[in-house]
Amino acid sequence: MGVITKYVNNIAETVTTIFEGMAITLSHLVRRPITLQYPDRLEKPVQEMLPRRYRGILEVDLDICTGCLACERVCPISCITIGIEMNKETKQRSFSHFDIDICKCMYCGLCAEACPTGSIRHSQEFEGACYNPAGLVRHFATEPVPLYKPKKGGETDPKLAHKVDVGQKYLDEFATPESAGGAGAEEA
Ligand code: SF4
Ligand code: SF4
Repeated sequence: MGVITKYVNNIAETVTTIFEGMAITLSHLVRRPITLQYPDRLEKPVQEMLPRRYRGILEVDLDICTGCLACERVCPISCITIGIEMNKETKQRSFSHFDIDICKCMYCGLCAEACPTGSIRHSQEFEGACYNPAGLVRHFATEPVPLYKPKKGGETDPKLAHKVDVGQKYLDEFATPESAGGAGAEEA
């Protein structure tokens, strides 16, 4: 191939590739945009679009928390601090505090897996920004809360029974490896 022919071919190829590139760029002008303008122009909140097994900010339902401390012990970086005290008169044991530092939390899920009742679980919430780091410590026991005692034969209080079911459902879906395939794709 002569030098001039090669030179002309190079120019032709350059022009062609420029038009190919521009054709792709221009085609986006007439396509429906796929960008999601977070957070104000969404059809529904992102939280509602996340899979059930999403590991968001931890929440605790103290009504079904037995105070076993399994979550506190298993946390590798000590995000969870639980205080339990006993009323000397009634002998009732209550939580004095149940705090989770979501600033330290690495969302590993170990605490939720270790919980026997599904009381501590990951929510679909991920927006935790605040001006003061102290605001990232979540306090779940703002007043003394009695420890939950599971009943033999199942919970009889309808309100608690529902919570026990929710906790168990969470454990089945979150902490059971066999459920990893299907449950994750379901809506919350
Ligand atoms: S998710 Fe992991 S790091 Fe966070 S509190 Fe639970 S065990 Fe600790
Ligand atoms: S949240 Fe679960 S693991 Fe933690 S103390 Fe309560 S029952 Fe035990």
